[in-house]
Amino acid sequence: MFFSIENLPLTVNLWYILSILQKTMNFLPESLQHLIDEFARLPGVGPKSAQRLAMHLLHSPETKVQALASTISTFKTGLKFCQECWNISEGEICKICSNLERNKYQICVVEEILDTMALEKTKQFKGVYHVLHGVLSPVDGIGPEQIKVAQLLQRIEQMPKEEVEVIIATNPSLEGETTAMYIQRLLKPLEVRVTRIARGLPAGGDLDYADEVTLIRALQGRSDY
Ligand code: ZN
Repeated sequence: MFFSIENLPLTVNLWYILSILQKTMNFLPESLQHLIDEFARLPGVGPKSAQRLAMHLLHSPETKVQALASTISTFKTGLKFCQECWNISEGEICKICSNLERNKYQICVVEEILDTMALEKTKQFKGVYHVLHGVLSPVDGIGPEQIKVAQLLQRIEQMPKEEVEVIIATNPSLEGETTAMYIQRLLKPLEVRVTRIARGLPAGGDLDYADEVTLIRALQGRSDY
């Protein structure tokens, strides 16, 4: 006997459900399975969520599905990087850099575009950004040439030094700290104010995952480098 009588119904039930599921999966139209596979390839979407998303679209009106498809197929057209801060933009200069109410001399240096979005949500920062598009990571072969540090230097060189503040807001990870130190050393000869956001952020955490209160505290508690 492999299983007792009491367990038999459960085992049989599970076997029945599994066989039904398998059959259902096999009978899925190719186009639907393809959509599920594509969703499952996206970051943070597991196989179950991928199925749920596909099922949601299946039950949505045709017009809504078409609208989503056309948004996806065209959203990249016309997008470029801002020539000042390297954030994503529709024009040569992004909306933040071209906003006259923002302090152009207070530059918050972040790793990724998502970090600018997280900081913008706090509505506390009135300066501008500089997106590095990565961090120094010798293990992964990422040196200063692979990120936008030279562009940061060029940007600051044209500014009145006494008015400049560079807030280094790279993540509190090993790579983030290494990059922060590198930038601080690079800026030293320019004699501009360099600050680092305070440790309100969890070690090893990402800026874009932090809640708004933590981010506000981190910004307010920044210190001179
Ligand atoms: Zn910009």
